[in-house]
Amino acid sequence: MMEIFFPDSLDELWAIMSANPGGAVMAGGTDLLVRIRKTGRKPPALFCLERIDELKQIRENEKVIFIGAYVTHQRLLENLTVQKRLRALWDAVSVLGSPPVRHSGTIGGNLCTASPAGDTLPPLYVFGAEVDIRSKSNKRSVSVAEFITGPGRTSLHSGEIVTRVSIPLPAPGTISRYYKAGKRKAMAITVASMAVQAKKDENGIIELIKLAWGSAGATVVTLPEAEEFLRGHTLSEERLRQAGKLVSAGVTPIDDIRGSAAYRRMVAGNLLLRLAHEN
Ligand SMILES: Cc1cc2nc3c(=O)[nH]c(=O)nc-3n(C[C@H](O)[C@H](O)[C@H](O)COP(=O)(O)OP(=O)(O)OC[C@H]3O[C@@H](n4cnc5c(N)ncnc54)[C@H](O)[C@@H]3O)c2cc1C
Repeated sequence: MMEIFFPDSLDELWAIMSANPGGAVMAGGTDLLVRIRKTGRKPPALFCLERIDELKQIRENEKVIFIGAYVTHQRLLENLTVQKRLRALWDAVSVLGSPPVRHSGTIGGNLCTASPAGDTLPPLYVFGAEVDIRSKSNKRSVSVAEFITGPGRTSLHSGEIVTRVSIPLPAPGTISRYYKAGKRKAMAITVASMAVQAKKDENGIIELIKLAWGSAGATVVTLPEAEEFLRGHTLSEERLRQAGKLVSAGVTPIDDIRGSAAYRRMVAGNLLLRLAHEN
């Protein structure tokens, strides 16, 4: 029998977790419950986070936005700072799953599932997000790149949970976008995706550019050589096409039912061309 707990606070959660070893943390359940149904492997206990207010807060100051792990994708979609200053994250949650999935699924759950196709991950990489982790006796923060250690794997230790994600707010004039190429627009069938954060000077020359690809490798793929190739230039179609070749060569996708590796390489490179039409 699987016991289900609804702690009201982190202190209560720690107590329940220590009394029930082997249990699993559950946020919206959109990944966890599917996994339990598919494998038939039920954890002895579920620790539901939905009553812990601290995990649902969104706070910000001039420099950083702090997003609680239990903030749903729908709430991110409705948040004005995300809409205006973190457009790549807004784009990602707008194409993530379907409305019911967006209402239940959370940013913490998307991170902890650590899928190479997780839509919030490429934006979190380009924004340089930090993941705040807590356990009964410890607090630590790691960059999102350190947090994700492989497909479905994170650097979380037993007894730890993600409490929030901290994202530095980009300087004014910075643009960001997330593009997702897939067979259906807003369900889990991504062929490849790309997040970008970029800043141009008054002549349209790229001063800063951060790129990250989803569904293009075992985890999110970053390619500093492609960023380097674009920095100091305008985003002409020709320059982007050449950079796209570096991308197609640099990503490491696998063959699966959604597309061959060669097709995914091509799509990952072509996604860069969309930047020619962004201001
Ligand atoms: C029909 C459908 C379509 C989907 N489409 C997409 C899509 O287009 N793009 C996409 O990226 N995903 C998609 N998903 C996957 C899923 O909805 C997302 O990954 C979602 O963000 C998971 O969040 P959750 O709160 O439901 O996580 P849960 O299912 O509750 O948890 C997922 C995992 O994270 C752990 N966990 C959750 N919160 C914490 C925490 N705070 N600390 C530590 N561990 C934690 C759980 O133990 C579990 O292992 C889809 C799912 C379904 C069912």
